[in-house]
Amino acid sequence: MSESPPKPAFLRFIDPEARREYEAQLPTPEELEYINEHVQAQCDNFEECGVTLTRPELKVCSRCKDARYCSPTCQKSHWRRLHKKACIPPEAATSKDIALRLAKQALLVPVVVDNLHVIAVTVLDLLRDITAAQNTAVHVICGVGPADLTAHMRYLITHGERDPNAQVCFSITATSAVRFADMPPRIRAISLDGRAKITRMYAETAQPASPMITFWFSTEDGGGDSNTFAATLPLPLEALAWMKSNPRNVVTRRSAMYGDQEVERTEPVLRECFNSLIRQDTDNRMQLRARLNRTSGN
Ligand SMILES: [Zn+2]
Ligand SMILES: [Zn+2]
Repeated sequence: MSESPPKPAFLRFIDPEARREYEAQLPTPEELEYINEHVQAQCDNFEECGVTLTRPELKVCSRCKDARYCSPTCQKSHWRRLHKKACIPPEAATSKDIALRLAKQALLVPVVVDNLHVIAVTVLDLLRDITAAQNTAVHVICGVGPADLTAHMRYLITHGERDPNAQVCFSITATSAVRFADMPPRIRAISLDGRAKITRMYAETAQPASPMITFWFSTEDGGGDSNTFAATLPLPLEALAWMKSNPRNVVTRRSAMYGDQEVERTEPVLRECFNSLIRQDTDNRMQLRARLNRTSGN
């Protein structure tokens, strides 16, 4: 095995301490497996059946290995209504399909979800008005970015062959606030049902209710009717308290080129931090990397 070339300074963490801090946030394979087994997911035919189960309890479509169903009935109905056009085997998946598949995986990674929450609080301006989350969702436009920036820049500079085995990693292209009323009807229905379910769960377990944030994931082109999804997650009150306790509205950005800087907590800055969090995971501990196939477009 050949040694990988040294990374340019600005791609490296400035000190080993920062690298250790970063790695401590990443899930272990055991944690990731535990979460995968316990997290609740909606049947892909949710708007008809309303069923939520743990991910292993849902049967995966054998062709695309992506869609999940509570029953053969749901699979058949969803196939006829929507899935026939969206069922793409992994080897034929385009970068857009991969982006949305990785978005589902991203929801299983705690540090990624924490970062999504910080973005949501900013995009929905929840520190000013927490009730905004009741009728507004965060629209997350998903993409994939080059996982290895050094190789990508070499390709750009030399106009050489693109490495057919180059990895890509999940990235967020843009986020914005969207009122439930302005979401596609199917996404709106799924979101409202999901929220009602969480509300009932809080009532049954007598837990203090957290505000809920609905995220709507799609690609740049909206993903058509079927290749887009929504997820509603409770916003941990600690996250809100932490952001409130930071009245100057800044985050520390670490960079070898500029050192530690305090920067304004704006959507572009948070998005850049989010994408860099994922890109720095060179060992793919978050499983947010994939390979683009030769056949797939960009
Ligand atoms: Zn179902
Ligand atoms: Zn399928």
